[in-house]
Amino acid sequence: MSIRFKVILPYLLLTLVVAVTGVYVVTSLVSNSLQERLTNQLLEAGRVVSDDFARQELTHIEAARIVAYTSGLAEALQAGDRVALAGLAQPLAAGLDIESLSVVDRQGVENFYLIKLADGNYFVPGVASGLESMPIVKSLLLADDAQAAPRRTLAYSAVMKKFYYYSALPIELNNRLEGVVLVGTSFDTIMPYLKNTSLADVILFNESGHAIATTLAGQAADESFLDTFSISEDEYRQVVESKGNISGENFELEGRWYSLARSPLQVGGDRLGAFAVVLPLDFVLQPGAVSRNNYILLFTLAMLGVIAVGYGISRLLINPIYALVRASQAITAGDLTRRTGVKSSDEIGVLANTFDAMTANLQQRTIELERANQTLAQMDKTKSSFIQVAAHELRTPLTLLSGYAQILDIKSKNNPDLQSISKGLLEGSARMQEVVNSMLDISRIDSKMLKALPDQASLAATLQRVEKTFSAAWEERKLKFITDGVVELPIIYADPDLLYKLFYHLIMNAIKYTPDGGTISVHGQVIEDAAEVELAVQDTGIGIDAQHQQLIFEKFYQTGEVTLHSSGRTKFKGGGPGLGLAIARGIVEAHGGRIWVESPGCDEDKNPGSCFYVRLPLKAELAE
Ligand code: ADP
Repeated sequence: MSIRFKVILPYLLLTLVVAVTGVYVVTSLVSNSLQERLTNQLLEAGRVVSDDFARQELTHIEAARIVAYTSGLAEALQAGDRVALAGLAQPLAAGLDIESLSVVDRQGVENFYLIKLADGNYFVPGVASGLESMPIVKSLLLADDAQAAPRRTLAYSAVMKKFYYYSALPIELNNRLEGVVLVGTSFDTIMPYLKNTSLADVILFNESGHAIATTLAGQAADESFLDTFSISEDEYRQVVESKGNISGENFELEGRWYSLARSPLQVGGDRLGAFAVVLPLDFVLQPGAVSRNNYILLFTLAMLGVIAVGYGISRLLINPIYALVRASQAITAGDLTRRTGVKSSDEIGVLANTFDAMTANLQQRTIELERANQTLAQMDKTKSSFIQVAAHELRTPLTLLSGYAQILDIKSKNNPDLQSISKGLLEGSARMQEVVNSMLDISRIDSKMLKALPDQASLAATLQRVEKTFSAAWEERKLKFITDGVVELPIIYADPDLLYKLFYHLIMNAIKYTPDGGTISVHGQVIEDAAEVELAVQDTGIGIDAQHQQLIFEKFYQTGEVTLHSSGRTKFKGGGPGLGLAIARGIVEAHGGRIWVESPGCDEDKNPGSCFYVRLPLKAELAE
């Protein structure tokens, strides 16, 4: 996963979690507070309705008292003088704006009954209202107590065909109960009043749970409509026992949703039934839903903003890192001119600048090294050309020199003094010839002109030839030369003359760096896996320090003090031009093989020895 995703993904997830949690918390807070508001409004409306009934009761009692204590009224009632009674009561009803006034005597007979019509006129029906048989009237008469507390009830008037709220008060004469006065107010007056004061619709229930009135459908409320609000007796009991606790529930009416809460309706000591207050849900919840949608929109926008900012920040952070990565990849691929291009001054900017400075240094060093390398290559070329020129220039006079030396040798056969001079001349020119040949070989190797002429080559025969070449040295230096496993080696496909030269140089070196009485052995074996032959030229000489083991294969490289070397070909530590191993390596490589040396180090007292390994392919793919 790229670093961009590693940064952005957790950030996005975090933002999402925070946003979703935020929306959830806010919307639930909003809806909780809305629910609370609704419940509070319902409670408030319920309180207002209860207060309204209490106020109505006070008005009733006040009016009933005035009627009961109007002088002469109790006497007229006692005397059964209905005309006098009506004469007193009727103006009172009009003055006190009583909607229904009824006066019942001790015997429970209604003596006076007056009602207010819808047009405001008063009317004496002339028939019994039936109110005298209501339980509240009967109980007052039965108590026979002139000071008894007033009673009240909700009751249906068969005469007016509508519900009234009635309050009953005892009529007293000389501390004796003389009758009962009943004051009533119709629901036509009460219901709109309840609605106006509570700011809610109201439903009234009688004591069996039947809905008897509601403001919900205005005047149009008929029996069947009311019935839809009725509750079972069980439910009614629950409401009554709830002691005013509001239990809200929702219902739908004409496509609109309402919440409803019921409470017991209690005035003084009497339970009149129950009532419900009703509020439309959309008053409260609809604005809530709108604000919730607003919150969601706001959160979504905020979230998008946060994501955009996060993306921007991540780009700011990650782009320089990407630039660094791209620059380092380009530099690894060799483009040292590449720079990060990061300009900021923060930590990443410092890192990028340091990286650029490092690259600039590296580029500078590389340029310097390349220059030095070019100079070295040029010098090497000059050296190679010099060797070539020198070798060629030396060859002709050398041939002349050795020719004359030979003539001198022949001519001085009988002159011993001249003989030793001619012998010295011959030996010297042969040695020079050898050096010049080595120079020619190395210049061929340098210019890749060394041509191997492949043929059937016997390593055993080659080594025999070399052994023979140095036959004088074995005697003179008391050295032992042994081979092991060489005769068993197969014939390989290689240039026999070059092979001779290879082992000539290796064995000559072994002779030179091994003290008198030492042993030089050549071990041969076939390396089956690699289809190669390996020849190890081991001596018991002074050995080679590790730091020289690679470099001695370079031309002119010598380990010891050059001036100390003797010039003898096979003398102990006899110096040479420093070309032998370079030629050996050139020959081995021209055959597609390898050459290396192993030695515990250089020690002229202990003579740890050196071992030169040569590996050649059984069938060499010869270099051009
Ligand atoms: P040189 O002409 O000096 O012998 P070479 O290229 O043959 O040049 O050898 C390079 C150097 O490697 C020698 O000067 C010598 O120090 C070291 N060297 C080569 N062969 C041996 C050996 N068998 N034991 C110890 N040192 C050796």
